[in-house]
Amino acid sequence: MQAKPQLHGLPSYKPGKPIEEVKKEFGLTKVIKLASNENPFGSSPKVAEAIRQMAENTAVYPDGYAALLREKVANKIGVNENQLVFGNGSDEIIQFLCRAFLSPNTNTVTAHPTFSQYKLNATIEGAEVREISGPDGMHDLDAMLAAIDEQTRIVWVCNPNNPSGTYVNKEAFERFLAQVPSHVLVVSDEAYIEYVTAEDYPETLPLLEKYNNLMILRTFSKAYGLAALRVGYGVANPALISILDPVRPPFNNTTFAHVAAAAALEDDAFIAECVEKNTAGLTQYVTFCEKHQLRYYPTQANFILIDFGRSGDEVFDFLLKKGFIIRSGEALGFPTCARITVGSKEQNEEILTILEEMLASKPVEQR
Ligand SMILES: *Cc1c(COP(=O)(O)O)cnc(C)c1O
Repeated sequence: MQAKPQLHGLPSYKPGKPIEEVKKEFGLTKVIKLASNENPFGSSPKVAEAIRQMAENTAVYPDGYAALLREKVANKIGVNENQLVFGNGSDEIIQFLCRAFLSPNTNTVTAHPTFSQYKLNATIEGAEVREISGPDGMHDLDAMLAAIDEQTRIVWVCNPNNPSGTYVNKEAFERFLAQVPSHVLVVSDEAYIEYVTAEDYPETLPLLEKYNNLMILRTFSKAYGLAALRVGYGVANPALISILDPVRPPFNNTTFAHVAAAAALEDDAFIAECVEKNTAGLTQYVTFCEKHQLRYYPTQANFILIDFGRSGDEVFDFLLKKGFIIRSGEALGFPTCARITVGSKEQNEEILTILEEMLASKPVEQR
């Protein structure tokens, strides 16, 4: 057998330890996971009700066109129905884009560090990945532009950026888009857009009128709290959507995902409440960092990247023993940091108390 050479040595995705396993290993009764930027408040009650109503409906294939959800999303964001493509999570749309646009002898440009799935999927397609480091967890858009050539097919803007939480503002994004050559697809990954409070965050939907080479990615996994159901979508001009449609497996979203996402869209109050709690939660972390003179990355998302001046693995291990699962920065390109998802007020208080203990037992080295 001969697999594609680019698959040799490619690591599989390492998910965080399951909660049950951590409980057993450390003899804990309560374990809280603040590692995957999930919504600590779950999802709108309308979601469970919609799934319950569909519970008997298991024998029939889902609607491959996602007509119900398509209409809801189109109305909600003010685009035409033929401007949408749905994925099994926006992860799957990243996969469609790479399958459709990348091959050996092409390249793709990303920020560094950024969301891991762009590089992984591009690598599987045999494309060259040009990772452009930016200052302070930010995108260096000018350097990304300079990395584009005739063979470039996709450039990724993760906004806000995962894992840093930093964002590209309206002026910078629009200036960038105007300079990207028309043969290159620009992907604006807006997985955390609901949480954004910055007033100068780009409004990308209106830009679709002018730019045929723009694709916007959104997801129901984060603020909407539907990570378990896997629903994300892409918005672009209809011609670009038609390119992706044959790449999409015909029944890629379940019926339950369709009805759940449609129900979630009807509860604006739930999202508003979660966003408000998230903003307050971020203040808890920022206050903590300032008190302890820890460097943190200014975030627009539902997570915060904090520099603890020691290996992120050390922070991870310390918290794990006490029943908190977070992400070490070691695997995220910020070795001395930890990325913590904002939890409920009480969860944030608990984890910050433990972090205070950690700092007291071994203070940050003054640099
Ligand atoms: C979480 C995340 C996604 C995708 O999540 P799905 O669950 O696949 O929709 C995409 N991009 C970024 C930057 C993310 O953090």
